[in-house]
Amino acid sequence: MSLPPSIGSILVVGGGSAGWIAASYLARMLRRQRVRVTLVESPDIGTIGVGEATIPSMVRFVRAMGLDEAEFMRRVAGSYKLAIRFSDWIEDGHTYWHPFGPVGPRVAGNDLFHYWFARRAAGAATAPYSEYALQRLLAEAGKGPRPLHATSPIIDAGAYAYHLDAGALAAYLREIATGDGVEHLLGEVQQVELTPDGSIAGIGIGGGRRLSADLYIDCTGFRGVLAEGALADPWIDWNHQLLNDRAVVMPVTRSDEVPPYTHSTAMPGGGWVWQIALATRTGMGYVHSSAHVDPDRAAETLVAQVGTQRRGLADPRLLRMRIGRRTRFWNRNCVAIGLAGGFVEPIESTGLHTTLRGVELLFEYWPGIGINPVLRDAYNDRLGRIFDEVRDFIMLHYRFTRRTEPFWRDAREVPLTPSLERLLALYDEFGQIEPVEANVFADTSYYLILDGSGRYPKRPHPRTALPPARDIDETLAGLRRHNAVIAETLPRHVDLLDVIHPANS
Ligand code: FAD
Repeated sequence: MSLPPSIGSILVVGGGSAGWIAASYLARMLRRQRVRVTLVESPDIGTIGVGEATIPSMVRFVRAMGLDEAEFMRRVAGSYKLAIRFSDWIEDGHTYWHPFGPVGPRVAGNDLFHYWFARRAAGAATAPYSEYALQRLLAEAGKGPRPLHATSPIIDAGAYAYHLDAGALAAYLREIATGDGVEHLLGEVQQVELTPDGSIAGIGIGGGRRLSADLYIDCTGFRGVLAEGALADPWIDWNHQLLNDRAVVMPVTRSDEVPPYTHSTAMPGGGWVWQIALATRTGMGYVHSSAHVDPDRAAETLVAQVGTQRRGLADPRLLRMRIGRRTRFWNRNCVAIGLAGGFVEPIESTGLHTTLRGVELLFEYWPGIGINPVLRDAYNDRLGRIFDEVRDFIMLHYRFTRRTEPFWRDAREVPLTPSLERLLALYDEFGQIEPVEANVFADTSYYLILDGSGRYPKRPHPRTALPPARDIDETLAGLRRHNAVIAETLPRHVDLLDVIHPANS
């Protein structure tokens, strides 16, 4: 029996964050297989130019690539991100936090939430659950996650992320990728030739130039030039469940303190504004629904949030967001990664995460020879579940808000997915969060959003009756004391950034 030919070449189409993440990662991971990687991008179609808050998977990427973190942060104007702060989401004046990492120790394998909730239900523990999280304390105090010249348990555990400049990230990864032998071409896909079985045979990029490869990676953003334009893979649209489909974005001057958290503030007219403080500037954006907010009002709303302490560095720019995902990310000899693969609105900074998972899983299911349908189907299944989990988790943020304006009412009343309905029904009983297979977010994250939203189970889990109540109280009080001592010893985030970015200080 003859084996199909091995995959010797990859053509990445698109040079945004996704294209360069894919090219740099695959070139490095597949170097022993001698796979030739080429990236072609249009010189005329711009990149989306946002995607500046990350989650801990970006730390994993930096480490897998063997990059020096301080150098990485310098190159991408990076700052540390320890949490997300949600202001006015539930009602005006209300704040809750979603810090990274666990909240204290697990007890007999269970999240501390159960024990905290049992004490809360008994009237003992009144502080929000997130107040027991070290990362929240540090974020609120404007502290960095490590001493100026040493590592720390947060760094060692990778329980943090970065804020970074999206354009600088793509430029830095381009340098790494081309240094690793990736060929970089400029050209716009004008025709896609298909084989009789419907796979991609080659692409024409104008001027009589034709490119072909064994595997194509579609990183052309929302356009999905190969996956959708040529292979007609259907897009699964989620806009009826996640209503925001626009964002107005604008860079502003750096804030003095550079908060080590992403700040999301709900807007009465609908949607929310992000503030992402980088080492050199702050990125701001107003995510909203075109059915609820008109474009002029959107730009005005964003500009009003800039305040008097900072000033805009460019005019507000309107972006369309396509919310949903591909049916088959990997279809025949083409894999759609980045916005071409799917996108869920950015409250939890999952865009680069799903991009990273797209390339990590491609390496995990790398077929080596030919296109293997078993590996391809497993890839599609895994990545599909990741997107579906992100969709459910983001929907949860809107479910228990108490704002009364039309957008917030409409967003709260969208039909839940069956998977989210099941998750909530079980939680409502006694606080169990069924392990989610895709596991983008740990059970702790669900507890933090649900506590932040004021949604509690009907009763504590029976397991919480096992330890004496005073032991639980002591654990909780001890945790806060311990966190306060650590926070005391850590430097201000701005001081840590001055060490990492000496040129800015
Ligand atoms: P793009 O940046 O759009 O790049 C597309 C590339 O394809 C370009 O190089 C273009 O030239 C090329 N191209 C297009 N058509 C052709 C053609 N015919 N021929 C050749 N080349 C072509 N993610 C996060 O992780 N955190 C966040 O905080 C975050 N915030 C976001 C906010 C908003 C409003 C949006 C819309 C997204 C956000 N994201 C975020 C997602 C993040 O921006 C993207 O996941 C990431 O930038 C990847 O984009 P991309 O490379 O897929 O697409």
